[in-house]
Amino acid sequence: MIDSIKHVAIVGGTHGNELTGVHLLKHWRSHPDEVTRNGFSTELHLANPKANKEVRRYIDQDLNRQFSIHDLKDHELSGYEQCRAKALEVLLGPKENPRVDFIIDLHTTTANMGMSLIFNSNDPLVIGMAFYIKQKMPHATLFYNPSDRLEDNFLISVGRFSGLLIEAGPIAQGLLKYQVYSDTHTAVMHAVDYLEQKNTEQLVTLPKQMVGYKFIKKIPLPENTEGEITAMIHPNVQDKDYHVIKPGDPLFITLSGETIVYEGESMVYGAFINEAAYYDQNIGLSFMEKIDIVLEDSAACPNLT
Ligand SMILES: [Zn+2]
Repeated sequence: MIDSIKHVAIVGGTHGNELTGVHLLKHWRSHPDEVTRNGFSTELHLANPKANKEVRRYIDQDLNRQFSIHDLKDHELSGYEQCRAKALEVLLGPKENPRVDFIIDLHTTTANMGMSLIFNSNDPLVIGMAFYIKQKMPHATLFYNPSDRLEDNFLISVGRFSGLLIEAGPIAQGLLKYQVYSDTHTAVMHAVDYLEQKNTEQLVTLPKQMVGYKFIKKIPLPENTEGEITAMIHPNVQDKDYHVIKPGDPLFITLSGETIVYEGESMVYGAFINEAAYYDQNIGLSFMEKIDIVLEDSAACPNLT
């Protein structure tokens, strides 16, 4: 018997300049039936209204890095997003024993990542949702970023299950694009369909494993001693998210046109390549590992029995 899902939250505008989720929330507020399914309630939350009003990613801090249990309990952390995180935890959590079962958080990227399904847990319910959406939308990419739910600083980690972050692109900050909007809408429809099917114990036929990418680390842009950027993403790498980068391949190109190669020893794959939002930390891209993601039997999972 599955421990059923009763409360689902769809969140948008966690980053105030990612308008796709913000406008999907507006749409669903006037068409709530689209996200309503038997057996659970669906609530809609604009996560960062002040940043959204100013069409900025954040006011003081990145909201989607403020949800570790340690930071939520630290009342010295009182910047705008640090306070928003605490307010959202009251609304959706508390983190140790959440009211909301599953959070779907809607994001966009300036990188050429298409529809990326980002999840931080290997819980069969979460991986099953990602597999289900990828079955329906084969162009989607599975992006696995393993993290302990309580330590995890993403908003989706406040739910009882670590949830799903939908990252669609490429799209500039502060922009709406129909293809991105429509793709995100479709992915959310599949996500709530999946939860309804699991809730009602319908047979959901899913593959045992699917290919995906596991996050390794973020790679900084080359800097001088003053912390100024001295190189940019190499044109061979630009827009090549989820393509292989081999040792010796070009990675960056300096302001004077000299190529800087990847000096690692193993093959990696790029993601968030030249993401505009990461220039606040001089981050150039993320390195990923291509892996087979395995869907464990849900009966073996204590969360589901
Ligand atoms: Zn975002």
